[in-house]
Amino acid sequence: MFADLVIRGARFPTAPGADALAVRGGVIQAVGGSSELQGFIGPHTRILDLNGQVVLPGFIDAHTHFVRVGLERTLYVDLSDVGSLDEALERLRAAARERRGDWVVARGWDESRWPERRPLERADLDRAVPRQPCCAIRVDGHLVVCNTPALARCPRADDELVDRKRGHLREGAAWELLDTIVPDLATLVDAIAAASRHAAELGVTAVAEMSGKPEYLRAYLHALEEGVLRTRIFLYIPQDRPGAAAALGTARDPGGELLRVVGVKAFVDGSIGARTAALTSPYRDGDTAGTILLGAEELARIWREVSHAGLQLAVHAIGDRAIAEVLRAARLAGVSGHGRHRIEHLELPTEEHLREMADLELVASMQPNFVVNWSGPGKLYERRLGPERDACIDPHALVLAHGIPLAFGSDGMPMGPLYGLPGAVSPPYEAQRIPVEEALRAYTAGAAFSLFAEDELGEIAPGKRADLVVLSDDPRAARPGDIRVEMTFLDGEVIFAR
Ligand SMILES: [Zn+2]
Repeated sequence: MFADLVIRGARFPTAPGADALAVRGGVIQAVGGSSELQGFIGPHTRILDLNGQVVLPGFIDAHTHFVRVGLERTLYVDLSDVGSLDEALERLRAAARERRGDWVVARGWDESRWPERRPLERADLDRAVPRQPCCAIRVDGHLVVCNTPALARCPRADDELVDRKRGHLREGAAWELLDTIVPDLATLVDAIAAASRHAAELGVTAVAEMSGKPEYLRAYLHALEEGVLRTRIFLYIPQDRPGAAAALGTARDPGGELLRVVGVKAFVDGSIGARTAALTSPYRDGDTAGTILLGAEELARIWREVSHAGLQLAVHAIGDRAIAEVLRAARLAGVSGHGRHRIEHLELPTEEHLREMADLELVASMQPNFVVNWSGPGKLYERRLGPERDACIDPHALVLAHGIPLAFGSDGMPMGPLYGLPGAVSPPYEAQRIPVEEALRAYTAGAAFSLFAEDELGEIAPGKRADLVVLSDDPRAARPGDIRVEMTFLDGEVIFAR
């Protein structure tokens, strides 16, 4: 059978000796030398000569918040690149002038990068945006600062997660407020289209959407129908949503090839940045050891329910105390390896935790871009935890040494494996360092395994989907920062070309 497409003159780091690839019907037919693949070229075959560029399986982001990534590009005010607190306020002021009367929602601020070295507070926001409701989500998503009009709409009674004086809402309190401002369907569909274009530019062909609330699922189905979704979406339903239980009963593949429900997401703790990750000994720079949001007994109950529905559980656990709680829940629930249940982030596991994870056949879903952003001398994790604990954080090498399946994602901070790669291949600490081949595997085949998609995705081999990324250079030889994404293919079709 003649191919639809033959790619020639390429380098395939994962298929040594090959320089050509044939695609038919969106699936890889053959990989090999150009002369071997000559027979696949028919009168209608499209031929693409790549002049030594590098072809890898399309990147898979095993943990992101895709709608949020899109909203950041379409609706939210982006504060991720501002150099100071003052500049952040200036940007909010400008946005408020443009959107009179409406909510101003911003995200991505990170005081650890500012000379002021202090978080945004209510009084700051009141100065910049005095009248309309305004809130700004910290880069890690675990702390939201509100101005006075926004705080007035906070539905939660005061507790330890609500600091009205500073206008700080943490964890559940923050999500509850953000839930009251779900954009309309058209805005969500636009956001999905923007996120999909952005993913293609980054060489990302599949993502796990970790906040698959029912409104988002509806928007994904619309985006699919309108043809603006060109990314494979693996959806996780939030455990605490009304409607999550109903969604458990719905079809596993509501959107066919491009949209599937794989599991349920639960939170056991918060983040290190917000000092809500649950630790065994307190933070170095705060009078707290974080919070367990969901205890082992309740988590075990959820775990049994999710397993019973044939779904996977993905549990957010960052601090060592949270990870221990998850492992206790796994034993209580009697989970089995067939479920491929995942621990999300897994930032401070002990060796004992990792031995147990291997026993329980749990999957590690980690984000090397966290290392790039926050680990190392003088950075946020060191200030929060001290140098000893910082040196033990995100131990990718120990995870692999224990034989635990490893999947890499971004949490959308930001998306893009070429950004995150240095956090695994040239990190500040030894326990974080793994060979580049292993890191690329975690962004492709490892991520596919964690999503039950290894039969179709994550490898360049006959029978797999032709989801491909073309890079200007080989990540085994060049620095990730010097490599460009040249083209991205989904099902053998170009979804991005430089
Ligand atoms: Zn997340």
